[in-house]
Amino acid sequence: MLTDLSKALLQRRAAGLYRTRTISDGPQSTRMTIDGETFLAFCSNDYLALANDPELLAAASLGLERYGIGAGASHLINGHSQAHHELEKALADFTRFPRTLLFSTGYMANMAVATALLGRHDAIFADRFNHASLNDAALLSQASLRRYHHLDLDHLESQLTQTPAKCKLVMTDAVFSMDGDCAPIGDLLVLCQRFGAWLLVDDAHGFGVLGEQGRGSLFQTHFPENHVPHLIYMATLGKAAGVAGAFVAAQTEVIETLIQQGRTYGYTTASPPLLAHTLLTSLQIIAQQSWRREQLVRLIERLRQGLVSLPWQLLPSTTAIQPLLVRDNEQALQLSAALRERGIWVPAIRPPTVPKGTARLRITLSAAHTLAEIDQLTLTLRDLKNTL
Ligand code: PMP
Repeated sequence: MLTDLSKALLQRRAAGLYRTRTISDGPQSTRMTIDGETFLAFCSNDYLALANDPELLAAASLGLERYGIGAGASHLINGHSQAHHELEKALADFTRFPRTLLFSTGYMANMAVATALLGRHDAIFADRFNHASLNDAALLSQASLRRYHHLDLDHLESQLTQTPAKCKLVMTDAVFSMDGDCAPIGDLLVLCQRFGAWLLVDDAHGFGVLGEQGRGSLFQTHFPENHVPHLIYMATLGKAAGVAGAFVAAQTEVIETLIQQGRTYGYTTASPPLLAHTLLTSLQIIAQQSWRREQLVRLIERLRQGLVSLPWQLLPSTTAIQPLLVRDNEQALQLSAALRERGIWVPAIRPPTVPKGTARLRITLSAAHTLAEIDQLTLTLRDLKNTL
């Protein structure tokens, strides 16, 4: 693979799959400034508009004063601060699990769960549309990996029936990151219980947004107060929560095992305590300011109404992730570029992030968007329908 990099890069470019980065200046929000030009942006995962919230910025300043900038070492050496400790307790309370454990990123949290809890003789079952971090975690665990058709519980059931493995883990995104649709968590739990399998729910895009007070996707499915023993919940803190990091929520023995054996927990510097300090405020805002979720619901409705009868299919999603299916890679890039020329930033998502032939514009909404801005996007897309 290292032998012909230039050829591989050229091929990638020819297939319309070359990835580029944009340098944006200033805070990321519903506006993005690139090379001095400002765009209306529909691409961030800052669903509740917390990333630049003044209350959070004030909390970050206090956290900086109290803890300084760096954690200094891993959690197992001396990087575990009072702020981390309090945040873990607050998150356990909020999600109604006995314990939680903080990670620097969601990617690392998923890695730790799969590699600390499973090994060569075990089996993992994963929805085909799961996030890459879950797939990578499964591969690194060395357990056998079978991927079931998207949301197809009959297919999953037939795979569970066939496996000889004693220890089984089913993994699913709660809200699928490139599609915006939701996993049937209640039904998955029932199925897992029937087969004695564990269930890992990755709620990167549901935590803070869905469920009562933003407690996450589990609370949309009548999550019982008395916790389910074989359920492991992972959510990220860099999306709706507006900061960075992630946590795993589970029974005490699971959390203790992750502390003992989670390599992406123990062998990395703890995230700066000022972030944990800030996240305590973020959690309060999530619980108390339901207007942010209500505004998102209004925006989603308006967008979906505005995007009917376009040549591109709006995928069936009720969440803040609203993908417009273009299919062809080049056409998705063209549509994204045409929007950009008109002052609107929506990224094109291509394989391998999504399956071949399903390139799309991934429109994401934030509580900071206005109805007028949604109309600006939909009217521009209607205009483009005739020119592209
Ligand atoms: N899971 C899902 C479903 C995600 O969308 C993401 C991030 N895009 C992650 C995990 C990884 O989270 P992080 O960005 O904190 O590494």
